[in-house]
Amino acid sequence: MAHLPGYLVEAVAAVEQDDPGQAPVVWLSAAAAAGLRLYPDVGAVLREAVPTAATAAQLLAAGARRTTNTRTCEDCGAHPETPCTLAADGRALCGTCAHITRLRTRQAEARAAAQDVAETAYRLLADEHLAVLQIDYTPGEPTAAGTPRPPAAARLTAIDRTGTDLYDRTVRLTGPRTPRRP
Ligand SMILES: [Zn+2]
Repeated sequence: MAHLPGYLVEAVAAVEQDDPGQAPVVWLSAAAAAGLRLYPDVGAVLREAVPTAATAAQLLAAGARRTTNTRTCEDCGAHPETPCTLAADGRALCGTCAHITRLRTRQAEARAAAQDVAETAYRLLADEHLAVLQIDYTPGEPTAAGTPRPPAAARLTAIDRTGTDLYDRTVRLTGPRTPRRP
């Protein structure tokens, strides 16, 4: 909400003392006279606060409808030009707050994913039967037109979890007349 100058606060306090029921009206007209636009839309809030004959159930239903087209961000209190969007937790948020919320959700997902990877690595390294296989391909000679061919060969290297070599061999993947074969 906009920060109000001291004279407005004093005017409101004075009227509240004289006639509590009139205070919001004076507050609004004094703000308008001072050229202030209030955020969130105090006028809209006050119109909804007017005593009503509607039942509690009707008011709740109206409230539920309002959240799909509200102009007041429930996080920062901004009064954006475009309607707020509903976040996953049901709060109506302005574009900026919705963006921040999406980023925080993504951050939490990334943290959880990193934790998963760490736990998987820890579990694998704890297994005495762990073997790591690396495959390095020798690219095939491209055709005259430059089209890539399948790899000509592959070097297979396997180590155990202490880094000791288990296997190291290069295998040919193409026929004996293929150019550049190892
Ligand atoms: Zn906001």
